[in-house]
Amino acid sequence: MSETAERHSILLNDGNTMPLMGIGTYADPKTTPKGSGYESVKLAIDVGYRHIDGALVYFNEHEVGQAIREKIAEGKVKREDIFYCGKLWNTFHPPELVRPALERTLKTLQLDYVDLYVIELPMAFKAMEACKDAGLTKSIGVSNFNRRQLELILNKPGLKHRPVSNQVECHPYFSQPKLLEYCRQKDIVIVGYSPLGTCRDESWVNLTSPPLLSDDLLISIGKKYKKTPAQIALRFNVQRRVAVIPKSFNPERIKENFQIFDFSLTEDELKAIEGLNTNIRFVELKMWGDHPEYPFNDEY
Ligand code: NAP
Repeated sequence: MSETAERHSILLNDGNTMPLMGIGTYADPKTTPKGSGYESVKLAIDVGYRHIDGALVYFNEHEVGQAIREKIAEGKVKREDIFYCGKLWNTFHPPELVRPALERTLKTLQLDYVDLYVIELPMAFKAMEACKDAGLTKSIGVSNFNRRQLELILNKPGLKHRPVSNQVECHPYFSQPKLLEYCRQKDIVIVGYSPLGTCRDESWVNLTSPPLLSDDLLISIGKKYKKTPAQIALRFNVQRRVAVIPKSFNPERIKENFQIFDFSLTEDELKAIEGLNTNIRFVELKMWGDHPEYPFNDEY
């Protein structure tokens, strides 16, 4: 087993590194008590998480920043130990709005830089490159890009910095074999969002597939290792070198999700879990279905 709880980073194509295990921080702002993001990120850092996935539009980025800063002030971690990923929201794509949007994230976090800044659709990449050159982000990446959209960027004349990562839905029921293979060839890390199959909020989640964590195979493999189906789902991705950012604001589950470095799945188990792929997304982003760059009409 090569990864440990202390060392589980993957090398990015620009020389930076990203911990494979992270914590997601999106929770419905209408129903989530204020301060949950702050408490959860502080606990996550104590538990050993070093990769934190957030965004200005999650409306709790100030809490996340406060948690990170307090843990740095306490001496628990140094800034360089933390890998923070922020995101450029759709309304900030015009190139002149990109840096101000990132600066707003930095002001909200009260940090000098983020480790990764990702965009959702293939515009504004030049302005993203300028943010990296200005030192406001260590790396730049994308999210929800299909192969064609990645190619658009990779084939862009004069491309200066390649995206280091593509954050996409990825879990045993939607394991992205083709996009993963393509990204491996291009040295782009896949960061798997909704790695536990989402919170199943019917306002934005396609509930055609049953709950991932009730899957019989994940449960039975879990019994063998004395692990939960969530831990099996996370280990599956990490073992394929897919980074994961499970969201939890529950102290026990924050700890549980990090306990995946003391066992390994066998090749047969990995294959069996790959066999669960249904090619059905939980996160369809249908509200943007009529946008010309809606990413999910292509096969992958
Ligand atoms: P997820 O991480 O797959 O699932 C989160 C849900 O699972 C929450 O309801 C959480 O509840 C529960 N949970 C967490 N650990 C558990 C465990 N061990 N056992 C049982 N249930 C558990 O879904 P997600 O929030 O959709 O995705 C994770 C992160 O990915 C987000 O927070 C966000 O940072 C990112 N994301 C990005 C995009 C994008 O377009 N780029 C889209 C979606 C998500 P508790 O909090 O109560 O534990």
